[in-house]
Amino acid sequence: DLNSRDHLTVVNNHGVDDLLQSRLTAKDLVMSVLKKRAAEVDVDRCEPGEEDAFYVADLGEVYRQHMRWKMNLGRVKPFYAVKCNPDPEVLRLMAQLGNGFDCASKSEIDLALQTGIDPSRIIYAQPCKTKSYLRYAQKVGVKQMTFDNADELYKIKATFPDAELYLRILTDDSTSLCRLSMKFGASMDVASQLLELAHHLELKVVGVSFHVGSGAEDPRAFLKAVQDARVVFDQAAEIGHELHTLDVGGGFCQETFEQFSGYLSDALETYFPPSVRIIAEPGRYYVASAFTLAANIIARRDVPDPLDPSRDAYMLYLNDGVYGNFSNIIFDHQHPVAKVLLSSADDSQPGTPSSAALENISYSIWGPTCDGIDVITERIDLPGLLNTGDWLYFEDMGAYTKCSATRFNGFSDNHEVIYISSETGASALLNY
Ligand code: PLP
Repeated sequence: DLNSRDHLTVVNNHGVDDLLQSRLTAKDLVMSVLKKRAAEVDVDRCEPGEEDAFYVADLGEVYRQHMRWKMNLGRVKPFYAVKCNPDPEVLRLMAQLGNGFDCASKSEIDLALQTGIDPSRIIYAQPCKTKSYLRYAQKVGVKQMTFDNADELYKIKATFPDAELYLRILTDDSTSLCRLSMKFGASMDVASQLLELAHHLELKVVGVSFHVGSGAEDPRAFLKAVQDARVVFDQAAEIGHELHTLDVGGGFCQETFEQFSGYLSDALETYFPPSVRIIAEPGRYYVASAFTLAANIIARRDVPDPLDPSRDAYMLYLNDGVYGNFSNIIFDHQHPVAKVLLSSADDSQPGTPSSAALENISYSIWGPTCDGIDVITERIDLPGLLNTGDWLYFEDMGAYTKCSATRFNGFSDNHEVIYISSETGASALLNY
């Protein structure tokens, strides 16, 4: 019950301390901070970029997701997938929560190590690694890593023969948003040959890993993957490897978590005794809902409504788009939903208590670059006539957004993040 929480902390100097005196829900708190920050900007006078899009990150939400994980998957230790959102405060919280890190490159390894964790809390979960990064992993003591092919085994033998290896196996990811198995994963036909080769090369295989695909829809994918992993564990034992860990990858999300974790827990209980350590690589699950993005309307164009040319519709141009934080539209197949944050229409109708009373108008919403692909929403009805300088906000913008933004057309790829925490547990861990 969020309403019962009376200690909310805002971590920034935007002067919102007064908001904390009242008992706010987490969502109220995020909205208050968004509004306060947006209202500080005067687009008629501000310096270039002061009206840039910005995030409010509620680390209390990350904390709640962690508690939910613990309740449902207590046996499975999360290694947060850094690629999903390498925000330094998120990483710091992950470290404080006792989580490990799934890293895919040298700089992700560096980011994880900068939190002060021991290198044994990192898995280099990229089956096709850069040689110089492998040497770097050896230098900094990151031993755990995945592989899925013979060439990689020879590379590891030559570069880092003491590494602790996880054989990544193929999964059925046909129902997932982002399919990964077309690129990575050894099929069950070749698993035992790879284990034989690793044994022959005197390499140490310690586990099996898989990933059911990011944004997976079918929880049975976990059951099949766990069954396949069991087969590989048995093959490995016959060959002479001593496997001790199963890595069940990522693919969890907010909406279906209880259902997915139910399938996974049952499968683990059936196929893997408690002596086997279980880890996972969740990304999206932890951060998607923790970040809300606010963007400014920089331009507007009056056009006939394509569905009813007798009516006006409007094209709105924001200062963020698919080449920026809305990269999730292209790379992660998401459909962010615009909501009105601050609108001059609210003030322009005397006696109008809220935007709910305003007439709905149809909009299409575009990013700031010159490219026609840079569209956020083809059509949406929003209350009132929005204007240049007004603000929109978008929830659930924490996963695969900022990390894949570009600087195309000279726009920023590094927008301000205002950190808040709606949970005392998170505030205490982060020293906020
Ligand atoms: N682990 C690996 C190897 C991945 O490739 C990914 C995402 O692409 C993840 C973990 C995180 O997946 P998710 O965000 O669906 O949890």
